[in-house]
Amino acid sequence: MRRKFIAGNWKMNTTRPETVALVQALIQKTQAIEKTTIMVAPPFTNLQTASELLKNSKIKLGGQNLYWEDKGAFTGETSGAMLQELGCTYVILGHSERRQYFKESSQDVNRKVNAALRHNLLPIICVGETLEQRQKGEALAIVEHQVRNGLEGFSPEQASLFTMAYEPVWAIGTGRAATPADAVQVHAMMRATVAEMFGFAIAESVRIQYGGSVTPENIESFIREPEIDGALVGGASLKADAFATIIEAAEAA
Ligand code: PEP
Repeated sequence: MRRKFIAGNWKMNTTRPETVALVQALIQKTQAIEKTTIMVAPPFTNLQTASELLKNSKIKLGGQNLYWEDKGAFTGETSGAMLQELGCTYVILGHSERRQYFKESSQDVNRKVNAALRHNLLPIICVGETLEQRQKGEALAIVEHQVRNGLEGFSPEQASLFTMAYEPVWAIGTGRAATPADAVQVHAMMRATVAEMFGFAIAESVRIQYGGSVTPENIESFIREPEIDGALVGGASLKADAFATIIEAAEAA
C-alpha cells in the first residue's frame, strides 16, 4: 500500500507572520495524523521561518521550484543545495504555472529533477493538459509526453523516489476540479508509462497525486480511488482548517 501524500503549494502567498500562524496552526491540527505524508511549500523567503517551526514535527518542508545549476551567475534563481540547507525534503517541479508563465519545458523539468536528486531532494513532478488540449482529445497524449520527457534518463532506483502530480491546467485555481473518473484514467496511464520505463515494481510504488481545485468538500471523492495517492493543493492549503480537513480525509481513506 502506498502512503497517502497531501502537499500544500502556497505559491506567492503569505508574509512572514502569516507563515508563522499557518504553520503553527497546521502543527496543532495534524497531531493525530500518523499514516499520511504531509508537506507544505511556502515561498522561498519564508522557508527558513517555516523550517525552524517544523523541526521535530511530522510536516515536511518543500520548495516550489529550483534551478538546475548548483551555483553561479543566475540572478534570481535558487539551487537545490540552498533548498536542502534550509531543511527541505521535497521540491515541486514543472508546476503548470512555471510551464505557462516562465516557459519551462519538459527538458527543463528533467534537468531540475536531476538537480533535486543530486541534493537529496524528493521531486514532485507536475504534469497536465490545457483545456484546449483536453477538448481536442489530446489530454492522454500530452500528459504521456510530459511524463516520458520529464523522467527520461533516470534509473529505476531514482524513479522510485519520485512523486508525480496530475494537475490539469484548467482545474488549477478555477474551482472546476476534474472528475475523479477523468483523474483515474490519466493516473492509470501515467502509472502504465512509469511501468514501461522503469518496471512494474517501481510503478506500483510511485505516488501520483491529483491537483486542481481540491477542497475539503471534494477530497473524499478523489482519495477513495486506489489510483489516487493524494493531492497537491493550492488555494485550500492556505487555510489551516481546510488543509487539515483534506489531510484527515486522506488519513481516513
Ligand atoms: C496547485 O497550485 O498546484 C493547485 C492545484 O492549485 P488549486 O488547488 O488552487 O487549484
